[in-house]
Amino acid sequence: MPSQKRYVVLVPAPLQGHITPILQLGTILESRGFSIIVAHSDYNAPDPKNHPSFSFLSLSDDEVASYDKSFQNMLMVLVAMNKKYRAKFRDYLVDHMIQNKVEVEVEDEDEDADGVSSGRCVIIYDRIMYCADEVAKELKIPSIVMRPYSSAYELSRKIVLHLKEVGCLPLPETQIEDMVPELQPFRYKDLPFPQFTTLAMTTSTNNDGIPEAVTKFWEVTHSNGSSQAVIWNTMEEIESEKTLSVLEQYYQIPFFCIAPIHKMAPQSLKTSLLQEDNSCVEWLDKQSPNSVLYVSLGSIATMNENELIETAWGLAKSEVPFLWVIRKWPNDMMKGNVKLPDHFEEIIGERGKIVVWAPQKEVLAHSAVGGFWSHCGWNSTMESISEGVPMICKPSFSDQRINARYVTDIWKVGLQLERSFDRGDVETIVRRLMMDGVEGNAIRKRALDFNYKFEVSMQKGGCSYESLDKFTEFISSLYM
Ligand code: UDP
Repeated sequence: MPSQKRYVVLVPAPLQGHITPILQLGTILESRGFSIIVAHSDYNAPDPKNHPSFSFLSLSDDEVASYDKSFQNMLMVLVAMNKKYRAKFRDYLVDHMIQNKVEVEVEDEDEDADGVSSGRCVIIYDRIMYCADEVAKELKIPSIVMRPYSSAYELSRKIVLHLKEVGCLPLPETQIEDMVPELQPFRYKDLPFPQFTTLAMTTSTNNDGIPEAVTKFWEVTHSNGSSQAVIWNTMEEIESEKTLSVLEQYYQIPFFCIAPIHKMAPQSLKTSLLQEDNSCVEWLDKQSPNSVLYVSLGSIATMNENELIETAWGLAKSEVPFLWVIRKWPNDMMKGNVKLPDHFEEIIGERGKIVVWAPQKEVLAHSAVGGFWSHCGWNSTMESISEGVPMICKPSFSDQRINARYVTDIWKVGLQLERSFDRGDVETIVRRLMMDGVEGNAIRKRALDFNYKFEVSMQKGGCSYESLDKFTEFISSLYM
């Protein structure tokens, strides 16, 4: 008998912030009757033990495996992955479909390549892994893009590409504080100009400040290829006015907004690439409600020596209890051979806890956590505000400045630490957020309103609940 299974092939980008939401989506879809296959890179590969009912396909390639995977080189690595993984992914899909007798319902041989039916398999991929869509197109398999960030960020990339095309870059210094007319209330300085990222350092930069490799990559990843829909981990209610509808009109394919996706997936699901240190939860259990500041810069952002030292002494001087994630090799959070001040942990004693990697979702849901100092990655932002935890924003690159602007000036659920800061700035901002006071309390109250918004959106009749139902219907229709 031919298999009746409806397969979803997930193709994550090999970065923690991208792998997590796509695996969460896969788990949700599995609970709705789909069989999940994950086609992944060996670099930052998901752990199959955390997903025993999923099938895994390694797309490894010796040449790509030998590349330097530092952040500065990541763009080149991602481009190479797309080039090298394509053939293996295609061959696998052809074999898999034939093996599973994907009811070769081919009536007209010309319609389907290699006897692969266009039904019974749908590819959901991170747009960074655009090779998945090239294969989908070739084999006439339906594909859906997952964009694990805000629609304001996607629109901001479109605006940067446009500014480049019309020769307006680099922007004069006098313009960077101005509002972007198509993306109010964001300012030019919130846009993700690559010169703010270290990605730009390894590639040759044009006069306009945007390296050719970045432009090409953005052009490809900004488009949706041949995909039939887009999934976002966001909701219309939290996005800046019209960003979703402007993009939907531009792309002309349906959007499904399922947020916060981490709360719609089973809470027991583990997606961390690094070992979580659960001792910090025991430490949190001993702290008073809302008293602890959680400090973490996600999986990629770093601090230089001065930032680390000033943060350490600022936290110490604030007298606020803190839980601080300081990543170690191979994802070192500190640049170079930077160390905490001598005897820092002794000085702090029980008031501070430092770990290499935390179970972040559990930490943010813990009643002792009253604030989150974050780099403002989209997952961290969603994880924080959906728990009603206010933030201190210290954005660096990519979508982080857009997200920080949302947090501080649009949703008003956090404060921003300026680019260059000292221990006094840290002490002040931590106290403003964490100590009882009119400002901190108002921010906390607004953050709790967000927690409520998200809870409502996930209940029957709520926008994320309904969107997930519609998405399930949509994807089911692709197997007909
Ligand atoms: N994270 C974690 N433990 C940590 C730090 C981060 O589990 O100690 C997770 C966090 O919950 C989030 C992801 O890593 O889901 C980071 O993604 P985000 O988009 O916030 O930032 P990125 O790492 O992509 O910059």
